[in-house]
Amino acid sequence: MSALGPIPAAVAERQRLDVDLGERGYPIVIGRGLLSDPDCYRPFVVGKRVMIVSNETVAPLYLEALRAGLAAFEIEQVILPDGECYKDLATLNRIFDALLERRCGRDTTLIALGGGVIGDMAGFAAACYQRGVPFIQVPTTLLAQVDSSVGGKTGVNHPAGKNMIGAFHQPRAVIADTATLATLPARELSAGLAEVVKYGLIADRPFFDWLEDRVPALRALEPAALATAIARSCQNKARIVAADEREAGQRALLNLGHSFGHAIEAGTGYGTWLHGEAVGTGLVMAAQLSARLGWLEATAVARIRALVASCGLPTQPPTSLSSARWLELMAVDKKVQAGRLRLVLLKGIGEAVLTADVDPALLRASIASAQA
Ligand code: NAD
Ligand code: MG
Repeated sequence: MSALGPIPAAVAERQRLDVDLGERGYPIVIGRGLLSDPDCYRPFVVGKRVMIVSNETVAPLYLEALRAGLAAFEIEQVILPDGECYKDLATLNRIFDALLERRCGRDTTLIALGGGVIGDMAGFAAACYQRGVPFIQVPTTLLAQVDSSVGGKTGVNHPAGKNMIGAFHQPRAVIADTATLATLPARELSAGLAEVVKYGLIADRPFFDWLEDRVPALRALEPAALATAIARSCQNKARIVAADEREAGQRALLNLGHSFGHAIEAGTGYGTWLHGEAVGTGLVMAAQLSARLGWLEATAVARIRALVASCGLPTQPPTSLSSARWLELMAVDKKVQAGRLRLVLLKGIGEAVLTADVDPALLRASIASAQA
């Protein structure tokens, strides 16, 4: 994949980038104070009506501002309970109930106001309602602004597995108001930073270098640093998605750190570690295994570990999981094809590769030394 070039020294207060997916392409707008700006919505709302989907935590903070931005439209709203445990079919149905009760037609635009849970559910509702209505993402967590709102994956969980029921449905626009991050718990901000670091590692070395200096500014919510990091992250995700919209190949690189991370999340019980925390440690573990294969220098592993730690993320896996359990958990990962464990590893900082060549004994040794 071609390089993105240097990080610009000064950034405009408001940035716009375009996800290039032909007729399903859409803009991502990033900046402060976008929530209540009518110009952010007017070009993308289809028809006269909108249905805002939010939750009990985010709505009291930001619903009024968003409603002000949407004042030109007839506004409906549905406020769901907060939590990953409500990302299910029963809660999804409440969106359909609201749409039907208010006799919303296909000219209704759904607007997701919240983190990834709300974005995934509102997006899936939009994919299904009357066989598909338009939707706009208004992400309010860092993770949602750099990851879940971009790429068109929507869905809900099933008791048998996370995100097992869903659809690809691209939004009309993503409106990322960085001012909303002021109320986000610090732990959630760190979790989002794990995915930001991931983009640098996959295919953007200049971004990784930049992050090594700028993480304190990001954690302090410095506007210019945030706008730069979010825009660059979205650019990275967007070009990987554009190359592989439905996950046939390239898109798998976005799973860097995630095979290890999923094992941590599942092995410790979902919710104990935040997803981003598990991914942060997963990035370090992927680097360590890459070094063991002779693909990555020890100094690079040290830099990766230091950057992850500076984000306020854990870098060491839980010692409670046996190596047999680790392999078992990693083998149920959806990246297993034809019985071979496929992993995303590093040939350098900014150079991720998908490989099926890993000897399980080497993997076991790498995990054991990470736990020590
Ligand atoms: P989340 O949506 O649960 O948000 C985390 C917490 O922060 C919640 O309690 C939420 O109510 C609260 N919150 C949100 N915005 C806030 C704000 N501005 N101020 C204060 N509190 C706020 O979690 P998340 O990390 O945003 O998203 C995780 C979800 O995203 C998972 O369900 C995951 O499967 C999904 N995801 C989807 C994709 C995709 O491509 N579709 C990619 C990555 C993750
Ligand atoms: Mg992730």
